[in-house]
Amino acid sequence: MTQSQLRFALQAILVSAFVAPCWSQETQIAFGPPETKKAIEQINEASVTGTIAFLASDELGGRGTGSVEFNIAAAYVASRFRAAGLKPAGDEESYYHTTNRVQKKLPSKVTVKDANGKSLPTFGLLASAPERFEYNGEVATVDVAKLDEVEKVSGVVCGSFDTTAKGSRAMSQLTRVVQRLETLGAKALLLKTSSDSDWTTLADQMASKPFLDSRSPLNIPVVLVSADAELPTAMSMDIPPAIRVEQPMRNVIGVIPGTDAELSKECMLFTAHLDHLGTMTHTGDNIYNGADDDASGVTAVLTLADAFANAPAPKRSIVFMTFWGEESGLLGSREFVARPTWPLERICANINIEMIGRPEDGARGKIWVTGWNESDLGKQMHEAAHAWGGVIFEHPKFSAMLYRSSDNWSFAQSGVIAHSFSAGSLHSDYHKPDDEWDRLEIPHMTQVIRNLFVGALPIASGEVTPKKIAK
Ligand SMILES: [Zn+2]
Repeated sequence: MTQSQLRFALQAILVSAFVAPCWSQETQIAFGPPETKKAIEQINEASVTGTIAFLASDELGGRGTGSVEFNIAAAYVASRFRAAGLKPAGDEESYYHTTNRVQKKLPSKVTVKDANGKSLPTFGLLASAPERFEYNGEVATVDVAKLDEVEKVSGVVCGSFDTTAKGSRAMSQLTRVVQRLETLGAKALLLKTSSDSDWTTLADQMASKPFLDSRSPLNIPVVLVSADAELPTAMSMDIPPAIRVEQPMRNVIGVIPGTDAELSKECMLFTAHLDHLGTMTHTGDNIYNGADDDASGVTAVLTLADAFANAPAPKRSIVFMTFWGEESGLLGSREFVARPTWPLERICANINIEMIGRPEDGARGKIWVTGWNESDLGKQMHEAAHAWGGVIFEHPKFSAMLYRSSDNWSFAQSGVIAHSFSAGSLHSDYHKPDDEWDRLEIPHMTQVIRNLFVGALPIASGEVTPKKIAK
């Protein structure tokens, strides 16, 4: 044991015996070797606040995948990687790992008329056909709840579908119903609802901004009509197709190359998702800032890049990456593992950082890890962080429950040791417009980032190598 290690151990014992379970930031800094101390000083409340206040600002509009604001956020991440001195590790020696994806926007204006040519009120569309849809004929009523008993329908059908599910979950339930109607022979669905229903809000959204085509994969139009109106049995309708735009979606990736001839060929990978839910069309605050989810994780990635760039050069390479499309189903990370610009078999561990801005009761400054028993990464990082007073632990509920819920899962499915590191619960502002940065506890978050840094030092230096735990 070196003199400095002994000092850390004594400090840890003193602190655990007499003060709080976690060290204060001042104490951490006072006891490190000078180079490490300098690097830890890069992780401070002013720098953390400066980064997250921008990422979670209203001006970045909730960083919805495919939005202009998301691209600005990605350019900012690339800019910070450049400023920290990271080498580009994306496509064609750039910081971007780009996938072109089709986005759709639904037409807001549709024409539905009765047999006398009188327009009927509609509340928009939840889906349109690939081509312009024109129709003049019968409209039959169907009981959507009893489709199993139906063998065949023809032409346009009308019915209602109520669900307690919200947002994308409600949409996928409706998708199954409409796909069943299509196989039974329906050409379009008139869905009975009201002007202030969730379906109408969803239709407004899909007409106001582009969305990934996976969100509305239907081939026949779904038109919202008033449940109160007396509908005629024959109608004509004219529904334009969706507007389709191909957009570049960007993961952002940079590397601090390792110094050891062999170890530098493999990397430790820090990640977080840059996207959140964007903006909605409802009244009031409609910007889903996603400060905790996951501007806090991206802030950690950027802050750790600064800190490692200022620390003694690592023997292993350290790769830093942010993803698009996590909220739409881990899309950015799935694209990366399908077409990696750093070989997957040479990633020794993926440390994915999710929601670290709001501590749970009794766990201020502490970190829990998903999939704790899949590898010894959490234990190794805890041991390293604990020498500095930090705590990294297995959460009794969330560690198992959330292992498959974030971008680490894309890597784990490809055989990489990959876990998410979090420091809070699914709080009441989760996926709400009130997930704002001024609700985060910056001192807690700063301490969490410092603990991730010291926890990862022995992996960076090659002293330890995470291993899977055999089942
Ligand atoms: Zn998240």
